[in-house]
Amino acid sequence: MRFGVHLSMSEGPSRGAQIGCQALQIFCGNPRAWSKKPLEADEVSAFREGVREAGLDPVVVHATYLINLAAPDQRIWDLSVAAFIEELDRSQTLGAKYYVVHSGSHKGEGEDLGRKRIAEAIKKADRELPKRPEILLENTAGTKNSLGTTWKDLAILLDGAGAGRTGICMDTCHSLAAGYEIRTPDGVRRTLDELEADLGLARLRCLHINDSKGALNSRIDRHDHIGAGAIGAAGFRAFFADSRLWQLPAILETPQDEPDDDHRDLWHAVELACEAGAVSDAVLAGLPTVELEALRDEEIAAAQAAAPKAAKPKSAPRRKPAPARKAAAARVRMARRRTAPKKRKTR
Ligand SMILES: [Zn+2]
Ligand SMILES: [Zn+2]
Repeated sequence: MRFGVHLSMSEGPSRGAQIGCQALQIFCGNPRAWSKKPLEADEVSAFREGVREAGLDPVVVHATYLINLAAPDQRIWDLSVAAFIEELDRSQTLGAKYYVVHSGSHKGEGEDLGRKRIAEAIKKADRELPKRPEILLENTAGTKNSLGTTWKDLAILLDGAGAGRTGICMDTCHSLAAGYEIRTPDGVRRTLDELEADLGLARLRCLHINDSKGALNSRIDRHDHIGAGAIGAAGFRAFFADSRLWQLPAILETPQDEPDDDHRDLWHAVELACEAGAVSDAVLAGLPTVELEALRDEEIAAAQAAAPKAAKPKSAPRRKPAPARKAAAARVRMARRRTAPKKRKTR
């Protein structure tokens, strides 16, 4: 399993190398705007060179937030598909292997219309682009009107598009929120058996590794730090232990509350994957040294039990770290500071 983090396009390769990524996910433009300034040749070569130097493979591009391929509104759908095609083209230019996009929302106009629109968007992209990365539909948490929450629905969407080089990206936070029990050996086995039966494992191409603020079947899409949410360290250990996942890239999209959170979460995820047998000891030992405030499982559990987090409305401004988590971090700060060699070997 090759681990990476969602980082910015400009700083992704250097930051990725600094914290020990083996894979990388980026946006290929401003995630909150329809228009993108054209990619400059030197920008592209700097990115590709940085990726090569850091040995980041694969590079995954995540679709920007405005795109809704299932949009019933014609104007929004037209804008979405134009942006989708432009981003696929940019992703190809940047050397990305995968382009991950959420299945979108039918906004209450019905699943059939939404499905047709997604299929048409992918077909249109294939008519207009000579080359593109593999398109991966990401499973959703099951918020209202969203498509692609179940493996069955994702299979319908992919079959509807009838295009080659498509697959899915499985997000652990979304899976749990959608009702898939992925925290126990038995639950993981059943979830992947179901995925295999409904979709085929060959179509599972990428993982998003995020802990979840929402509980099982909560339909809440809110990511948490690795080990600090409803999945927890033990849950991730169980998840990583299924060898059917070991060939997949695993990308973290965890919150960045403090400057080193990306590094800490990556380190913690790789450690759990290592304990589960999904990555070798050498990979963990090769992670760059930082002053980690790695959280101990029991510390997290104790802190969470002492101060349960209240659900915040979606529109809340960017959160400060939860006091419980900070306290736990402070108590074990430096407890597991690593002494591994500083320089990580690039491939
Ligand atoms: Zn995701
Ligand atoms: Zn999410």
